[in-house]
Amino acid sequence: MKVRIYSIIAMLLCFCLMVGCASTNLSEMKSASLQYEFQQEEENSEAICNEGDRIAKEINDYLGWTMSADTNPKCVFDNQHIYEGSIRSEYKEQVMYCANYCDFVHEYVHLICDVNGQVQYPPESMVREGFATYIELIWQTEIAKEEYEYLQTDVRINRSSDPNENVQIETMLEMNEMEITPENYRRAFVQLAYERAGEKLPYLVDDSFVDYWIGLILVDFLITQQGGLEPFLGFYCESERAQAIYGRPLEKLVLAALRYNDSLFI
Ligand SMILES: [Zn+2]
Repeated sequence: MKVRIYSIIAMLLCFCLMVGCASTNLSEMKSASLQYEFQQEEENSEAICNEGDRIAKEINDYLGWTMSADTNPKCVFDNQHIYEGSIRSEYKEQVMYCANYCDFVHEYVHLICDVNGQVQYPPESMVREGFATYIELIWQTEIAKEEYEYLQTDVRINRSSDPNENVQIETMLEMNEMEITPENYRRAFVQLAYERAGEKLPYLVDDSFVDYWIGLILVDFLITQQGGLEPFLGFYCESERAQAIYGRPLEKLVLAALRYNDSLFI
């Protein structure tokens, strides 16, 4: 009897060891998951975290990336988050701070680009912001597979603060039979500036216009006109290889993107 008990114990031990090994291997392969924090009371927090995980997975699948297991990615919802002097969303060191639910996709793109372990050289800020903005704008129509209730339900058009300029942009879109969408509005806005300044444009405007507006035109051009997402992700991870990947340095790619944008308008 004793012998049997010992053998059962030995078998159980073996089994536990095997399970232990299996779970170690599994956890090595497992990717990190997003931890959420709410700075203000939110009665739908559970549903929001759930949506966040589903959106994150859709973006990961689209990019073919996952969050490295050795990272601690966090999403903090804080409608009072201050960045550069005003209430805004921000991504910083594995933490995405969302000042509103509409910014989730944009900030998540920064996060996944940072924690997937592929980036060799940090890309130029116009490539980083251009890509986050590009995904933000195409997410609903090209990436999302379901309807979401709380996170980024609505991408608003970022209009010019100058009413005359706003009219000019809307007229340009109308003349070219382009719908007034957030993406087309940005294309027309950059085009208007390009018509005024030509190829000097990237050196004449402020950093934020270059990063978020011209950056979007550049990323859109690279992905839709220069071979798709795969070479772009290679370029994103090692921007210094622009010449090897696209046959041109970054400055030349920006000019080619502006000329391509120009060709969309009569
Ligand atoms: Zn950003």
